[in-house]
Amino acid sequence: MITPLATVRPEVPLGLTAGLATVIGLFIGSFLNVVVYRVPRHLSVSSPRSFCPTCRRQLSWWENVPLASWLALRGRCHVCKQPISARYPIMEAGNATAFGLVTLAWHGSALAVAYCVLAATLLSVVIIDVGPIRSPLSVAGVGTGIAEVALVAGGAWAHRWSVVVGAQVGLAVGSVVFLVLRRIDPECLRPEGYGRTALVPAGCWLGGLGAVAAGAGVAGGVVVLGASLLLRRATTPSTTAGTSAGGGVPTAAEMGRSAGGFLRLPLVAATTAAVVVGLVVFW
Ligand SMILES: [Zn+2]
Repeated sequence: MITPLATVRPEVPLGLTAGLATVIGLFIGSFLNVVVYRVPRHLSVSSPRSFCPTCRRQLSWWENVPLASWLALRGRCHVCKQPISARYPIMEAGNATAFGLVTLAWHGSALAVAYCVLAATLLSVVIIDVGPIRSPLSVAGVGTGIAEVALVAGGAWAHRWSVVVGAQVGLAVGSVVFLVLRRIDPECLRPEGYGRTALVPAGCWLGGLGAVAAGAGVAGGVVVLGASLLLRRATTPSTTAGTSAGGGVPTAAEMGRSAGGFLRLPLVAATTAAVVVGLVVFW
């Protein structure tokens, strides 16, 4: 009697795969901290090695261990004692958690790799966008490109063509919305956007989850966007008052900047909500 291949192959427990993905996510999160700091400042991600942003001293290996170093040094540089941003451990822990959850959601299949890359991309874009500099399109573009290669290869391997096709549709929709928003807002003609580059990987992410999860994700994102805009309108009496140098009438550039800043956080929040809601419905 011939034994089916599936029963011969030793099955790796899903918990073990997810645990391994979490550890890998921790180290990739550490690399993403370099990306998040250097790419918007047009610095190389490969050299020099990691340094303290205050005293510019190169870090030893033991100051560079993800999560553990920040905790052991209590969030301060070993030499200059200046605080090291909590963004570093948040990124590492956030990326590790995302990798673990994504691997569980995709049952440790080959497609989990693609979704881990998308999660890392979205997290990087969101962390840059809540900071002082907006995320350049290159972060979303390179991340989504790598995820696309893993998605097509993983989808073909697992014969999950609906995921591959859905992700392309979602990617196309996200990119079109991004380009339209860039066109209608003159402040967005620069390579940066106000948290909008996240639309590209988010479209790919939601599209691959299928129509129901994608619809729920978009609906969740719209609800969070609407609620945060209403909340900001209620708590900010006038966003442009006092910004003009002379006559009190804001210039077009000032209004554009103000509207951009006004929309940045809600857009980041809405993207995050869409991704989370989509994943929960898919699960
Ligand atoms: Zn220092």
